[in-house]
Amino acid sequence: MFLALTSTEIKISRNLENGIEFSCQMCGECCRGFNEGEVYLYQEDILRLADFINIKGKTGLKDFAKKYLKIVDDSFYWKEPGTEGIKNYRFKTLAFRFTGEDEHCHFLKENKCSVHPARPFQCRSFPFWQMMVSSKKNFDNYTKKCKGLQVLKGKFYTKDEILNWATEEYEIEQKYFLEMKKNNFNIMKVHPYLSKEMLQE
Ligand code: SF4
Ligand code: SF4
Repeated sequence: MFLALTSTEIKISRNLENGIEFSCQMCGECCRGFNEGEVYLYQEDILRLADFINIKGKTGLKDFAKKYLKIVDDSFYWKEPGTEGIKNYRFKTLAFRFTGEDEHCHFLKENKCSVHPARPFQCRSFPFWQMMVSSKKNFDNYTKKCKGLQVLKGKFYTKDEILNWATEEYEIEQKYFLEMKKNNFNIMKVHPYLSKEMLQE
């Protein structure tokens, strides 16, 4: 689920005000969508990853999408500029297709990311997603699932660095929403390398 507002001012919860130490402990749980969620991808993520694994041309990209991606229905809360209320839109987004009995990302090999330099924004920005940065409750919920958040040791992130991740996420989501809106929420127009069969899955 996305949460988007028209204000770029993102609040930071008190527990992150003074920054935190965080380093991934490679438990691989986020690469399994924490057994309940998705790993979302945006156009830049897809093109960067495809290039990294040497996918070439339109056909290559189409095959890549069929093998690694799936279309999911999502919600997006949007506050139109100049209005009071927040509107809820339902539309389609893209996420990794999971594989194996434990439903993991195709690129997870022995609990390590095999495409680390080209991993999607969602993977790079964790645990500084907007919904975690602005809500201690959400942060605490993810702490139960992520070993790195339980340990809280390693690289130090300042308040500004944390806010930068959350702001970048906001901007990426906003860009995708506006692109979808412009194309009457037709995901095939926004991601021309998708196949029609993927819509029916
Ligand atoms: S859940 Fe946390 S510790 Fe585990 S792989 Fe993801 S970021 Fe690393
Ligand atoms: S791309 Fe890498 S970090 Fe992201 S979900 Fe897949 S294995 Fe995990």
